[in-house]
Amino acid sequence: MAPVPFETACGLLREREGFMSESQYIRKRESRAEHGQSRDLSYPPLPEPLAVGVYDNHAHLEIADGENPMDYREHLDRAGAVGVLGAVQVGGDLETSRWSADVAAREPRLLAAVAIHPNEAPNYEAAGTLDAALAEIDELAARPRVRAIGETGLDFFRTDESGRAAQFRSFEAHIAMAKSHDLAMQIHDRDAHAEVIDTLLRVGAPERTVFHCFSGDAEMARLCADHGWYLSFAGTVTFKNAANLREALSLIPRERILVETDAPFLTPTPFRGRPNSPYLIPITLRAMAEHLETDVLALAAHVTANTERVYGSWDDEPVEPPR
Ligand SMILES: [Zn+2]
Repeated sequence: MAPVPFETACGLLREREGFMSESQYIRKRESRAEHGQSRDLSYPPLPEPLAVGVYDNHAHLEIADGENPMDYREHLDRAGAVGVLGAVQVGGDLETSRWSADVAAREPRLLAAVAIHPNEAPNYEAAGTLDAALAEIDELAARPRVRAIGETGLDFFRTDESGRAAQFRSFEAHIAMAKSHDLAMQIHDRDAHAEVIDTLLRVGAPERTVFHCFSGDAEMARLCADHGWYLSFAGTVTFKNAANLREALSLIPRERILVETDAPFLTPTPFRGRPNSPYLIPITLRAMAEHLETDVLALAAHVTANTERVYGSWDDEPVEPPR
């Protein structure tokens, strides 16, 4: 079967493959250069541990990346060694959403998010299977330890005019699911800020709405915070050219801040382009604290409280016994 393109949060192409002997890998990251140059495929060194436990609220641990790919347990072991206690494992199509729900059901360090990604919705629609796919996401949403619908939203960068009707329809269906299951919702918004906000205001946003990999400006950040929505900052907040994100960070109340990796993508400075993993969260948090001129442990405590307010505790629903 020909590889099916799958878009990630910030638009990098990856390919689906029946991958490797390790059954937990669903997909391999495309090895093509991220910035037009050849990538350094080694994982960055472990950062100094954080003394306050934190969580990565958006990661794709089913993707094998790097010269020595890690499975989800290795990612989480490394994370635990530096104070990152767990992650929200995020799906973007039926296959990865099923995997996310399955793995979170048996792994205490993971919760799951399930959805059809906005760049996948037009593909399902073209195949005549979008309604069936949404119905299955609705079933997965009821599974134990599935705590969010995501990633869903709008992407006008990767999807052209012809796919937009399917994106809107899929986004609205996901909003309805988040509400009916009382789950958080993780939004993917690429080059579609106004339309995402209009949709949320028109149909009513779920109680706990998160802008994953927030990419807006100060004005949008203020608007989101005013509506009680959360802004999740990825490694992009450390990038030299991302002054808009740091300005947004400074403007919003601490109660609205979340942190994520979007692993294996968006690795923070100074390791940009190399494989990302939840264990690199302390680098992003330290950069955020430095910009806010605050103590990193105080910020970490805030972010953890916010994370548990949005998704619940990682410990309040037991995992399945081993099979
Ligand atoms: Zn993502």
